[in-house]
Amino acid sequence: MTAVITTRDETASLTATAYHYTRIVEIAGHTLRAHVERGRFDHSIAVVDVLNDHLTWTPLIADAASNWWYSTHAPHATTDPVAVLSPIADRLLHRAADILTAPPATLTTSTPGLSPRVRDAVSALLAVTYSYDGERRIDPDDIAWAQTHGGALHILEHHDGSVTFTKQHRDACPFITSTGAQECDAECDFVHPANAKLG
Ligand SMILES: [Zn+2]
Repeated sequence: MTAVITTRDETASLTATAYHYTRIVEIAGHTLRAHVERGRFDHSIAVVDVLNDHLTWTPLIADAASNWWYSTHAPHATTDPVAVLSPIADRLLHRAADILTAPPATLTTSTPGLSPRVRDAVSALLAVTYSYDGERRIDPDDIAWAQTHGGALHILEHHDGSVTFTKQHRDACPFITSTGAQECDAECDFVHPANAKLG
């Protein structure tokens, strides 16, 4: 899908040690900000933030400096920040548009394959749960236990790029069937394992 990217604002600046370029755009009803700053390698960033419902900028995607730093030059008096950095912002905004306009998918354990975003989200789930180098082996016993306690796994890919993994809801819950657009109707009760009858 080709998304319409509408530019709302553009700024650029140049100093003796760095130059930067910022563009605010609208994509599919979302306000996004691409920011590229080229200075010393470890002070160079290329990111896109999305304005969330609380009017706070939330990071959506970034491009590692190693992907573009070497093909840009060190700042000097005749540097044109827009000419050098706007193509990098373009690339990032097109990636952001792909994310924001992808049809949301409700995946379950029976859905074959994982989208790249879900794979990235699983990586982030490990990282936030265990650490940036997290590793966890799940035994068959753990899998069997999880299948018989709580709800089925649901994976919701939201329009803002976030992903929800949950075992909290029954399949027919409005939160699940609307891919997160509606609230849970509070009828998703699962027996707590400690209260489940033995045998
Ligand atoms: Zn629910």
